[in-house]
Amino acid sequence: MRMVMLGAPGSGKGTQGQRLAERLGVPHIASGDLLRAQVRARTELGRLVAGYLDKGRLVPDELVFDLVLPVVLTAAEAGGYVLDGFPRSVAQAVKAEELAPDSAGPERVIFLAVPEELLVRRLLERAAAAGRSDDTPSVITDRLRVFESETRPLVDHYRARGLLREVAGDLPADEVTEAIAAVL
Ligand code: AMP
Repeated sequence: MRMVMLGAPGSGKGTQGQRLAERLGVPHIASGDLLRAQVRARTELGRLVAGYLDKGRLVPDELVFDLVLPVVLTAAEAGGYVLDGFPRSVAQAVKAEELAPDSAGPERVIFLAVPEELLVRRLLERAAAAGRSDDTPSVITDRLRVFESETRPLVDHYRARGLLREVAGDLPADEVTEAIAAVL
């Protein structure tokens, strides 16, 4: 099964994506994790993307595609994936549709709908707990703005293709997991 998790920062798509991947027996591919690993490993790519991550801006498409697309294609051939954080814009979705065969594209897209006040509260809690460089109050505001302008239009993009399933993400995590299982 090939799935895309769509949701704002703090919507729980990481947690739910991992659970779903485990349930489906496919890899959980999180573009943010792949990018942060490059930064930690101090690779050339990591050096190029670090500033975008710190500021909560989207990394340029070419860099993201070079890193993420091969992983997605390999997983698609091996039986599926749960994608988290990619595509992040309609432009990325269209480009991925052009570069990858239909047989590698998503069969379902889960949109985790969460009110903004709750997103901010969760991100600030995560900031206190994990210390990610982009979990500071001002960067959190920017990331939510980037979500609204760049990523939310994907909801309509996938709805128009009949792939979208919307799930309320403001419930306890176990209930969200059950709600996702129910719409698959
Ligand atoms: P995430 O862990 O999904 O919240 O992503 C963390 C950061 O990685 C984002 O704020 C972006 O800077 C970058 N990022 C992750 N995925 C993408 C993507 N598909 N396109 C561009 N930038 C991305």
